[in-house]
Amino acid sequence: MDFHYDVAIVGAGPVGGYLATKMRERGHSVLIIEEHDEIGRPFQCAGLVNPDAMSKVSLEQTVLTPIWGARIHGPSGTPVEIGNPKRTRTWSVCRKKFDEAIVRRAVEEGSDIWLSSTPEDVEIGIGSALLKVRRGDVTVNVQCRIVCGCDGAHSWVRKKFRMGRPKEMMVGFQVEVTGYPGKEGVLDMYTGSDIAPGFFAWAIPSGSTTRVGMWSRPDLLEGESCEGLINRLIEDSIWAERFSDCRIVGKFGGPVPSGILKKTVGQRVAVFGDAAGSCKPTTGGGIGPGFEQVDLLVPELSRAIIEGDFSEENTKRISKILDPMRRKHSKAKALRDAFVTESSDEELDEIFSVWSRREVIEIINEYGEIDNPIPLGIRLLKEVPEFRKVAGKATKAIIWG
Ligand SMILES: Cc1cc2nc3c(=O)[nH]c(=O)nc-3n(C[C@H](O)[C@H](O)[C@H](O)COP(=O)(O)OP(=O)(O)OC[C@H]3O[C@@H](n4cnc5c(N)ncnc54)[C@H](O)[C@@H]3O)c2cc1C
Repeated sequence: MDFHYDVAIVGAGPVGGYLATKMRERGHSVLIIEEHDEIGRPFQCAGLVNPDAMSKVSLEQTVLTPIWGARIHGPSGTPVEIGNPKRTRTWSVCRKKFDEAIVRRAVEEGSDIWLSSTPEDVEIGIGSALLKVRRGDVTVNVQCRIVCGCDGAHSWVRKKFRMGRPKEMMVGFQVEVTGYPGKEGVLDMYTGSDIAPGFFAWAIPSGSTTRVGMWSRPDLLEGESCEGLINRLIEDSIWAERFSDCRIVGKFGGPVPSGILKKTVGQRVAVFGDAAGSCKPTTGGGIGPGFEQVDLLVPELSRAIIEGDFSEENTKRISKILDPMRRKHSKAKALRDAFVTESSDEELDEIFSVWSRREVIEIINEYGEIDNPIPLGIRLLKEVPEFRKVAGKATKAIIWG
């Protein structure tokens, strides 16, 4: 049996669902292929959606807690409290409801969806791609103008089309707990090489529970497991007392791919979201950048579909549309490396002792954006002399990167 579509999207995560809607809005026929039998499972996310991404989908009904502030803790415990209750900085959502609503909208707009289905092979022909899809017990042929990989960190599409690898593959692990004595609307961030080497741990209010997690890079873990590090934060860190009444009600973990592929568009193929390595190097957030990538590429991909132009020259040109986003991410990574990843605990404590000064908190509150740390980084480097010595490398990256 043969099926014909303009766009075949592999993966019904938030980015696949958003892409499907955007392609339908341009009049293309769309098929979404999802390996699981339901949307939004398994769940691997802290559930933070920034205001910019939220404004693209207007899914405020999926919000569990609006987040206006953060308490950031240095390795020795120095807390820095930032934020203002009058300004929501990010939203803590129910990811299952969020993903379901995005995919439902794509279907309401006219996309078809096949659950419990996976691609098995693909051939590029003249004028189309032929995707062989395992659908339940049978294999069917799907002929399409373009195959879009929105199939997450270990993307089948990315591997099949040999599109390279994201620069960094971080790992994250999280437990959902009851009984955490957090502050309403405020998330906690914890640093220290014994709980999140090179990165940080978090406690994020999410309605009646709190998501407590950490992320790091495998080469920094020195054989320890992420689960072991979370257990240490909860049971044996200087903050352990805070977790004494907590009861774990869920556990999940997964990869966080960052460092956008050099080429995300090829002959009759494009990859998006985690498949393309779009997670932010500073926070691990992947939903906002995935949406941004869709918005940037869909107009030109739609034109390529209509004109049938998937020439090397055209796909290279379309891929380059992401260059400013790539540059923004690599500058943010340079800042992260200088301030956090490459700092020892002693250096981090020094940074926190400066951060906790009132005038510095004022700068952070004015210029700090969860999404875009560069303006804050520049401001801190300009106005706080102590930062210049720890951030020499970042300064170079910001100015020349
Ligand atoms: C611990 C942790 C915390 C995180 N916290 C946040 C956060 O707070 N905010 C944030 O923005 N991001 C966060 N992220 C990252 C975020 O989860 C991802 O960036 C986001 O889910 C990416 O969306 P996506 O649609 O690209 O991929 P995914 O959400 O991974 O969706 C991919 C879909 O493709 C399907 N699929 C995969 N392979 C196939 C196949 N071969 N055939 C058919 N279907 C397939 C999967 O079943 C899935 O439905 C976190 C990640 C981790 C690990």
